[in-house]
Amino acid sequence: MKQSPKLKQAIDIATKAHEGQLRKTGEPYIIHPLAVMKILQEWGMDEDTVIAGVLHDTVEDTELTLKEIEDTFGKDVAFLVNGVTKLGKARKGMRDLDDYLPETSSNLLKLLIATGQDVRVLIIKLADRLHNLRTLSAMPPQKQQKIARESLEVFAPLADRLQMGHVRVEIEETSFYYLDRLRYDFLKNLTAERLKAADSKLKSAQKAVEDALKKEGIKYECDGRIKSIYSLHKKLAKYNQDINRIYDLIALRFIVEDVTTCYLVLGIIHSLFKPMDGRIKDYIATPKSNGYQSLHTTVITPEHQVVEFQIRTKEMHNFAERGLAATFFYNEQKLTKDYAEGKASKLPTNLLWIRELQEAAAKLSSGQEVDTKKLKLNLFADKIFVYTPRGDIIDLPKGSMPLDFAYRLHSDIGASCTGAIVNGKMVSLNTKLNQGDIVEIITTKNQKPNPGWLDKVFSKHARHKLLAQLNSIFPNFSPHKKESPQSQDTSKKKKS
Ligand code: MN
Repeated sequence: MKQSPKLKQAIDIATKAHEGQLRKTGEPYIIHPLAVMKILQEWGMDEDTVIAGVLHDTVEDTELTLKEIEDTFGKDVAFLVNGVTKLGKARKGMRDLDDYLPETSSNLLKLLIATGQDVRVLIIKLADRLHNLRTLSAMPPQKQQKIARESLEVFAPLADRLQMGHVRVEIEETSFYYLDRLRYDFLKNLTAERLKAADSKLKSAQKAVEDALKKEGIKYECDGRIKSIYSLHKKLAKYNQDINRIYDLIALRFIVEDVTTCYLVLGIIHSLFKPMDGRIKDYIATPKSNGYQSLHTTVITPEHQVVEFQIRTKEMHNFAERGLAATFFYNEQKLTKDYAEGKASKLPTNLLWIRELQEAAAKLSSGQEVDTKKLKLNLFADKIFVYTPRGDIIDLPKGSMPLDFAYRLHSDIGASCTGAIVNGKMVSLNTKLNQGDIVEIITTKNQKPNPGWLDKVFSKHARHKLLAQLNSIFPNFSPHKKESPQSQDTSKKKKS
């Protein structure tokens, strides 16, 4: 990797600052920030981020000050280093973030709040965590467990949200290995056995499809994808531990040139093998919430082998595997051109922030000015965070009202809600909640939900709970209203 004079200087400064410090592995400490640097370079991050990666532990662990970093490397680098330093310690609302960490499943959201939502801080933290996981064996067992658990709960979902599929999988696999070694080994062996047993049948299925594609003159790449141990573990829990119900232990993946060809290949596969009912999934038309796109189908071959096929374009494949990095490295020109021409459909709307980041990074690297506000990208543009009077953070879709909040706390609280106090003031139930509001719900025992409330809920969750309650109170109840706006798939909305 090429090193600019600025980066070399950062390495020198960090090496000096960490001099004499050792990692748990016994190696000089500087190994760690340099490994983080390398990861960030591999991800294609801009120079400020890479430099901040080199310096990320200096302010906390050495004599170096933020002021010195700012004087030498500028405001942006200092901002990033400060963000990484503060991460995990930040206060927001009434409680220390750390107090929340073991409690709930939405730690990620809290992490994001704490960072002020500058995505590059999170990316440095992700690289930092990845290297710590890779070297976790040097830690005492208790620490291993703690780091592994937190990685699984916070950093794997973060990688997922950043669409960095390969990073998510590495975090999950490593964490799970340390958290439950017996189970990990068991599932690894189980997978290996199943694969061995299915090998020849899979190969003949693959060959049949490849022959057909060649005959049609379709260009493709094909590889096998073996389900990760951790996702197998999760899926088995859902299926009563019955491995025979896991159809995607191995998937054959076909990567083709364009979307039309994806559907063509799907048709060819279905002409060769019998598709299983309800197992055709079109994540191209309807991407998963993290932006994942692909066609999936599960078929039964004449040899009675169940095989899952995944079909996608190169772009989709790159996004799925490398996410953010892909937008930096891959087809930069083309993507930008597509947006300019209004053909933005390739990148789901929830990933538009990546493009903004990419554009800003490109500007920065060519020495142009960048509006720093633009870099404080909002990963959760569609969400707001509000507080309970006790200071618990609740995340809700943007547009939510007090009843959404109440139902989110508990369906009984929702059902018995008679009023709401927002930031100390009584408000009506159709008041839209704002980012940072402190919301208190007033309940009365005799209160019952009524159909008029359907206009006063926004979230799918609250609507669902409310409808169930209305149905039990009014046996012949049928809602006149259509689906709430939130349930429409915004990713398919056409931009004009
Ligand atoms: Mn570190």
